[in-house]
Amino acid sequence: MRIAVIGAGLSGLLAARNLRRSGHEVVVLDKGSGVGGRMATRRIGEAVLDHGAQFFTVRSDAFASEVNEWLTEGVAREWCRGFVDVDGHPRYMGVGGMTSIAKYLARDTDTHLGITVTRIDFDDANRQWQIAAQSRDSRAVNLVADAMIVTAPLPQTITLLGPVAGELPADLRDIEYDPTLCLLVTLRQQVHVSESGALQSPDEFFSFICDNMRKGTSSAPSMTFHVEPTISATNYEQPDDTLHSMLFEQALTYLSPDDIIEAHLKKWRYATPRRTHTDSCWAHPHLPLVLAGDAFDGPRMEGAARSGIAAASVFS
Ligand SMILES: Cc1cc2nc3c(=O)[nH]c(=O)nc-3n(C[C@H](O)[C@H](O)[C@H](O)COP(=O)(O)OP(=O)(O)OC[C@H]3O[C@@H](n4cnc5c(N)ncnc54)[C@H](O)[C@@H]3O)c2cc1C
Repeated sequence: MRIAVIGAGLSGLLAARNLRRSGHEVVVLDKGSGVGGRMATRRIGEAVLDHGAQFFTVRSDAFASEVNEWLTEGVAREWCRGFVDVDGHPRYMGVGGMTSIAKYLARDTDTHLGITVTRIDFDDANRQWQIAAQSRDSRAVNLVADAMIVTAPLPQTITLLGPVAGELPADLRDIEYDPTLCLLVTLRQQVHVSESGALQSPDEFFSFICDNMRKGTSSAPSMTFHVEPTISATNYEQPDDTLHSMLFEQALTYLSPDDIIEAHLKKWRYATPRRTHTDSCWAHPHLPLVLAGDAFDGPRMEGAARSGIAAASVFS
């Protein structure tokens, strides 16, 4: 079959890889300018900063076998076994940034970036999906596929499905996501926060702060600050310059203003699903359509990975 996968995040890329291995023709479409989705790395000058997922843990055999491949291929490595107190559980990271894992997974995949899918409709007469999309330069892009896997966060997925959205189970339709506000800061000199370079829930405002240089991602001093979910949600709709000032002010708890070169705000509207569906993915009962992503098998990278693998198995 010719199968279109919407989303080049971890779930979409693993789904695409497994579909290819099963002999399908696969095309991946993503609105972003790079692969990885919420596994995101940004370069600012000489600094390299992870600004979505910061690390991952491994609990299941299915994910362990993927991660072992990434470790062997040198695209992931163990970061630490506890950010402050060592608890013995490995935390892993992408080598040179989290997107290295996505780039590795995407290497043999027909991936089209900068393509925002706006609508998918099933053409009953021809038994195929019609995909309407728009390129970065506002060109209309139309594709057809025999089957679809959609891995966008669920509220975004629902807007693409047209009448099919009404056929989703009710508990899928109301999965909500917490946003995350994020500040990316480049520095004149490195700031010590902990031996590992990170602090989890260091205070009431931030949920995670990370020295990307100590982590080993960046050759230049830089810090990532994530705001905890309730404060992110309460303030999300404020103007960007208000948010920038608010986060900057809080970051000064850890930084001296003289050390700061640049500070950038990043807003993740759909950072983390508040609850997840009971199954690893959702397959439409009579159309060749599967929904997957971290809203299905746990709100983290491991859940996204397992969901993508499960989605591909529907067509194998
Ligand atoms: C700030 C933050 C911190 C996090 N920290 C951690 C952490 O430390 N550890 C951990 O395990 N997890 C963490 N997570 C969660 C983790 O990043 C996600 O669970 C995982 O990456 C989700 O992968 P996914 O493939 O399901 O979705 P995504 O990565 O969101 O991929 C979906 C893709 O779909 C694309 N898309 C959406 N709509 C369209 C459209 N209409 N057309 C085309 N493309 C579209 C998007 O561009 C995106 O690339 C964090 C997330 C955030 C945001």
